[in-house]
Amino acid sequence: MTSLNLAVIFPNNNKRALGILAQEVAAVTPPVQAALIAAHARIHGFSAALLDAAQANMLPNEAVKWVEHKNPQCVLICTDFINSGDVTKMAAASETAKAIKEILPQIPVVMEGVVPTAYPERVLREEGADLVIRGEPFKPIIELLTLLKAGRRDLTSIQGLCSASSMGKGECSLAAPIMDMTHFPEAAHDLIPPSLYRAHHWHCFDCLDRRTPYAAVFTTVGCPYNCSFCSVGVVTDGPCFRIRPLEQVMNEIDFLVKQHGVRNLRILDNVFTARADYVERFCDEIIRRGYDLNMWAYARIESIRSPELLSKMKKAGVRWLAYGIEAANERVKKAISKTTSDSATDRVIEWTKCAGIWIVGNIIFGLPEDDLQSMQESYELAVKYQFEWANFYCAVAYPGTPLHRELVSRGVELPRDWAAYGQYNPNFRPLSTQYVSSEEIVKFRDDAFVKYYTNPDYIRMIAGTFGQPAVEFIKKILACGNLRK
Ligand code: SF4
Repeated sequence: MTSLNLAVIFPNNNKRALGILAQEVAAVTPPVQAALIAAHARIHGFSAALLDAAQANMLPNEAVKWVEHKNPQCVLICTDFINSGDVTKMAAASETAKAIKEILPQIPVVMEGVVPTAYPERVLREEGADLVIRGEPFKPIIELLTLLKAGRRDLTSIQGLCSASSMGKGECSLAAPIMDMTHFPEAAHDLIPPSLYRAHHWHCFDCLDRRTPYAAVFTTVGCPYNCSFCSVGVVTDGPCFRIRPLEQVMNEIDFLVKQHGVRNLRILDNVFTARADYVERFCDEIIRRGYDLNMWAYARIESIRSPELLSKMKKAGVRWLAYGIEAANERVKKAISKTTSDSATDRVIEWTKCAGIWIVGNIIFGLPEDDLQSMQESYELAVKYQFEWANFYCAVAYPGTPLHRELVSRGVELPRDWAAYGQYNPNFRPLSTQYVSSEEIVKFRDDAFVKYYTNPDYIRMIAGTFGQPAVEFIKKILACGNLRK
């Protein structure tokens, strides 16, 4: 007889997603969404265990041994339901599910995330799951655990929980998200102890020997925007932005600082700066506590309306902001409905620098109207702003997104293999445009990376700002060679 109700697994995708970077330099990030589900189960009186197979670098057969030892009533494999672009975890999720079913066929295996939400039928048919959750998993998982505890096996009445038989009857609705955020759980950080995790190298450029402990929290969930290439709204069928009660967020941060000595903290929000009044109150609370935090968060240029807010964020310990710059060329920006003006971008970048906040600039090559010239303009924009860190991505139509649906309806052939969506996977296949092939775009991206990080002006700036260890670390990243290996 089993006493554990729920075993949550975050699958190990390190090699597929990151290649050689995984072992050498990449962050080891806590799977907060998995810890949220475990916490939610506990709040409802169920026992839960969590295996971060990625952090433990466990292969599927080793994950099976962990499940066998735990002997739970049910296994939930998480890919990601909150952040964007995690389709690449599907291959690892699939291998893990199949390995469990082979050895432990009696234990129900459930899968949740963006891809299971968008393609429940395929996931049930091909990826080894007995059940799939469509939408946010909180409500369905509690109903499922309740039925399993009562010894029931008729699981098809749960909203958002799909099986092969419910799919056959055309019944597989989306689970309702948690709207009353007082019911949103605080993540079970005891299951993802910060001492096991490592911050991004740039996040700690001035303290590279202190990348651990590392933790992450949400202050808001979802995104108020609706970019066609983004998968954030898939599980809620569109934008569904919610703000957590500040006391709950602060409870989590107090716990992380006082119990785990956390200094490096990621704010996981899709757009942390979406609500200036909330950000202000959040910063006031941190400042009042006097914590010495090293935080980073995503921001959107249009959401920054005053330099004062940035100064307050810096004072609270928000030392890095990541902006989605995407592209420089007007034609390219128009094609993705990016309406941010050049003057607004100039102004906010300047404010951010004046506030003493370091910047991660995210640039995307291969957007629908891109050609070699416009991609060069995007690259030069990154050089002009001299971001302390620049991420160069290739444009991808992630499964489940409006962009993916639109391209499929236009007859564009998109990869079926989940791994083809991993930016650093050897089988990566980004979108091509009418002017450039996907191979040319990947090459442009990789060349841009090397050019940016070997630029003498950039290296001088890094040495002056963070010191020689950061320069040496960048050299180490470059020495990893072909980033797609
Ligand atoms: S701003 Fe756009 S890309 Fe960023 S999380 Fe929101 S929908 Fe996604």
